[in-house]
Amino acid sequence: MTKHIFVTGGVASSLGKGLTAASLGRLLKQRGLRVVIQKLDPYINVDPGTLNPFEHGEVFVTDDGGETDLDLGHYERFIDENLTRDSNATTGSIYSTVLAAERRGDYLGRTVQVIPHITDEIKRRISALASDDMDVVITEVGGTVGDIEILPFLEAIRQFRLDAGRDNVCYVHVTLVPYIAPSGEHKTKPTQHSVIELRSRGIQPDAIVCRSDEPIGSDLSRKIANLSSVPVEAVVNAPDAGSLYEVPLMMHDEGLDAVICDLLQIDAGPPDLTEWIELNRKVEAATNPVRIGLIGKYVNLVDAYLSVVESLKHAGIQLGADVEIDWIQAEDVEGLLTEDRLRNLDGIVIPGGFGERGVEGKIAAAGYARENDVPCLGLCLGLQCMTIEYGRNVLALERAHSSEFEPSTPHPVIDLMDSQRGVTDLGGTMRLGAYVAQLQPSSQVAEMYGEEVVSERHRHRYEFNPRYRSQYDDNDFVCSGESPDGRLVEFIELKSHPFWVATQAHPEFKSRPTRPAPLFLGFMEAALQRAEGRNPQLLTVDATTDA
Ligand code: GLN
Repeated sequence: MTKHIFVTGGVASSLGKGLTAASLGRLLKQRGLRVVIQKLDPYINVDPGTLNPFEHGEVFVTDDGGETDLDLGHYERFIDENLTRDSNATTGSIYSTVLAAERRGDYLGRTVQVIPHITDEIKRRISALASDDMDVVITEVGGTVGDIEILPFLEAIRQFRLDAGRDNVCYVHVTLVPYIAPSGEHKTKPTQHSVIELRSRGIQPDAIVCRSDEPIGSDLSRKIANLSSVPVEAVVNAPDAGSLYEVPLMMHDEGLDAVICDLLQIDAGPPDLTEWIELNRKVEAATNPVRIGLIGKYVNLVDAYLSVVESLKHAGIQLGADVEIDWIQAEDVEGLLTEDRLRNLDGIVIPGGFGERGVEGKIAAAGYARENDVPCLGLCLGLQCMTIEYGRNVLALERAHSSEFEPSTPHPVIDLMDSQRGVTDLGGTMRLGAYVAQLQPSSQVAEMYGEEVVSERHRHRYEFNPRYRSQYDDNDFVCSGESPDGRLVEFIELKSHPFWVATQAHPEFKSRPTRPAPLFLGFMEAALQRAEGRNPQLLTVDATTDA
């Protein structure tokens, strides 16, 4: 029988419910259990695909092409499993299923209501993940208790315990224990109120994860335990951590996984944390400074590039580099070029994006990197900008552009494929999810991947225009990876540059802390070399430390 863990949150958003779910998942996996995680999102959008990253952070893409909440990225990175679109359900997607059934006449004319129809559909989504080969399903409920939108979800997970049996379901509530400076104390009242709110929906938490800035001490844990009717060992403190990857170890030290296994009567040995402890040791040891400029549009909300930033960190951890990210507003790049600010960077990343704003800055940054031997990694829109730059400045294709940004360009070097023309439904035209690419033998990318057939996730509409292939191919520019039928360009690189490499895909979605994405690793290696070249004392310092 599959066991279910529900993770809810109270007091404030952004407390790290996702990280709690992900950390717990990892701990249970290390106990030899098969674990899957899902997120229930109370907003009305059918999926996060059309949400503005300014507001919502990045859209995470799964192998099967699901456009999902960024928390799925945390889940995948922590439990090291590929999830599917079924791991993310929104109010919008649940209603659209129910409404489609209503239109088909499946309800035989009965009144369709939140309870039972919406709640049943929520329960069906939860049960769908509980396949025979799954030991534990962890379900994170987005939002906080007390939100209007969350009520059907709380009702569904309350009922779920009645359906699945007491010993098969437990509830973990994540709350905030704020520090109030004038009184010099951590306060438990918000946690108490949030537990009362949860209880008013019929859910008594089995464990409480208290987020705080500093450790809260056992007196407060006892008080919270008492007032919330939870055993004191089930009150777990998670103070702010130096690195995300400390969180599972912290939760284990606090006994969260042991408490859950007891509650759910899971008979599993202690977790094998060797790999995770080694990861944390490497995080501590990663001290060689390297400065990466991220040329983005959404630089005020760092979550908009969450997977890119994590992938850079993964590569840094592996290579002993302490990655400092310089957030560069793409619209400012032309100004920065005159100030020569890009000179102090060891590497430049041009990430994905939609819409014209900042595109010229990204193109300018690509040109700067090309001419000055700065390692440059282009991701999706990044590949497109680098292709445009090379077209304009090396191949003299005047006003070369992407038809996404300038429909009347004389040289649409980036264009829609014929099959996509004329389609206007924004939900239906993207190339989404995992696609295989064939790499050119002995190219830079083939060396980095160590194989010639690779699969990466995609999320874009436009492509390298095949009409321009031969002009590009005749030069230093190499289309080093393409779709198996040879129609689509998937990777580009320059023969004469230390690292000017881009992909039409988003390799950041597959990077894991213990297995960095090959392209990021190669990029970081090149950036470290440049850092050492710019800062020869780095090498000397290393040599002295070694001796
Ligand atoms: N806007 C570009 C396209 O749709 C790039 C998309 C992206 O970077 N994810 O092709």
